[in-house]
Amino acid sequence: MSQLKYCQGPRCHTYDTKDRKRGPKDNKRNETRRRSSFYYLGGNACSMICERDWFNTFGALALRHFGMITQPRVLTKDNAWVNRRDWNHPNADTYYAYNYLTEERRPITEDQYQNDTNITQDGRLAI
Ligand SMILES: [Zn+2]
Repeated sequence: MSQLKYCQGPRCHTYDTKDRKRGPKDNKRNETRRRSSFYYLGGNACSMICERDWFNTFGALALRHFGMITQPRVLTKDNAWVNRRDWNHPNADTYYAYNYLTEERRPITEDQYQNDTNITQDGRLAI
C-alpha cells in the first residue's frame, strides 16, 4: 500500500463528517483527511472545497512566488500549433499538426500525436 498523506486544505478538519472524527468519547476531535491518493489540487486535496480553501489562502502567495506576468502573452502563427486527429477519415485515422491562426495542416505520425514530440510546450514546431 502506498504511503498515506494528508489533505492540504487548510480548513479540512473543520468540515464535520464521520470520516474525520477521531478519539474516545470524552476527547472527540475532527482531523484532516488522510488518504493514499487525492483527486484535487494536483493530488493533494480531498475535495473541491479543500482545493478552493487552499487557493483562497495560498493562491496569491503562489502567484507572487512563481512570478506574475507583466507583459501580455502573445499567440502568433509561430506558436499556434496543436496536434489533431481526423476522426472522420474514411479508411485510417490521420494525424496532423494544425496552426489555428493560418489553418495550415502538416501530417505527423501517430507517435508524434500521442506524445506531442513535434510541438514545444508553448506551441512551436519542434522539427
Ligand atoms: Zn480536505
